[in-house]
Amino acid sequence: FLPHLVASMEDVEVSYIMIKPDGVQRGLVGEIISRFEKKGFLLKGLKLFQCPKDLAEEHYKDLKDKSFFPKLIDYITSGPVVCMAWEGVGVVASARKLIGATNPLQAEPGTIRGDLAVQTGRNVVHGSDSPDNGQREIALWFKEGELCQWVSAQASWLRE
Ligand code: GDP
Ligand code: MG
Repeated sequence: FLPHLVASMEDVEVSYIMIKPDGVQRGLVGEIISRFEKKGFLLKGLKLFQCPKDLAEEHYKDLKDKSFFPKLIDYITSGPVVCMAWEGVGVVASARKLIGATNPLQAEPGTIRGDLAVQTGRNVVHGSDSPDNGQREIALWFKEGELCQWVSAQASWLRE
């Protein structure tokens, strides 16, 4: 562990990024992972996972009163997802920018949803909306021992 290569710990955030079942089915896993990898964030956890209904409901509990909630739960549990934990200074807000607007038709070209999707109900990827939710969602989707503590060989070329 090389602490001088890591930003001061209080600035480090984690974001829970998930490739939804449509992203997996459409063969976009490599493309989507690549966007975060190339940006320079640190991958701390990664797995292909069939999400049970109760976990999907817990993850999206803030939306449980929305009319689309049952469809959303069916969608997220309809096939395997790719669960990821990405770490870095500012990763939560930056990942939201890389992902783009919730409605892919409104998402800017160059974003994941802007480039790769056409409908809100099939918007290929999830990203945490706050650092607190990043922590909460990673604790929800990953078990202890599934995250790796490591320093990338690129670290000193990504941050001065
Ligand atoms: P996000 O943070 O950009 O993913 O958007 P929200 O937190 O508002 O919603 C969570 C997810 O619910 C979205 O990514 C969509 O998959 C889904 N969703 C949101 N609004 C709608 C809607 O109006 N219709 C449908 N079918 N799904 C929606
Ligand atoms: Mg959200």
